[in-house]
Amino acid sequence: MQYYEVVRESLVSTARNLTTKGYLMATGGNLSVRVPDGHDMLITPSNSDYMTMQPKDICQLDQELRQREGPLPPSVESAMHSAIYRMRPDVMAIIHTHQVYASAVSLTGKGIPALFDEQARFLGRTIELIPYAPSGTASLARLVARRVRSRNNAYLMQNHGAICFGLTLERAVHNVEILEKCALAWLLSLCTSQTTTRIPLVVREVAFAKLKADYEKHNTEPSFIAQE
Ligand code: 13P
Ligand code: ZN
Repeated sequence: MQYYEVVRESLVSTARNLTTKGYLMATGGNLSVRVPDGHDMLITPSNSDYMTMQPKDICQLDQELRQREGPLPPSVESAMHSAIYRMRPDVMAIIHTHQVYASAVSLTGKGIPALFDEQARFLGRTIELIPYAPSGTASLARLVARRVRSRNNAYLMQNHGAICFGLTLERAVHNVEILEKCALAWLLSLCTSQTTTRIPLVVREVAFAKLKADYEKHNTEPSFIAQE
């Protein structure tokens, strides 16, 4: 099977699995993969039912967001995905969800501190909150691009949802799942009205150093890396 066919199929099956597990619901959220030459991305179409989406429906866009393949209009968040790929050469796959617990934390106006070892190892030092901008706008794409420079692999989007990254689509899914566990645990701990604890700083830094080593191993520097 051709590379593009494999990626199209895995985007569709991943979207279906995320829907079955409750991370995607209705037509909220979107998924993309950067193609290895770094110029184009494959992304889910806008406003489509993930359970009936077909591999042929996946859109291929170039870095100027010109549509090269696919019969349907691309996700309204295509500019946001493209801006993330420009900013983060280490990111090869992006999943944007409206997952419930992470979305609930996004309403508190704060991110999530370092609570668990696996959080620091796979998501980053902390889970930062990206301030609100309306869905599908250039302002949202700009805001997100600025914030993802902190090199974490999961962010909350205020009054909207979350974005998770990975070197592969499978790794991005893994990060969606860790994020939701952290968000639920954080919300429950806030409900206790007790002081919440953090992992020791030294453990957080050792775990984050391993994540940074992943970036360095994969420092492909695609040709459309941002000039900003
Ligand atoms: P699309 O259906 O266009 O991908 O939009 C869904 C969404 O989550 C917007 O933020
Ligand atoms: Zn959204």
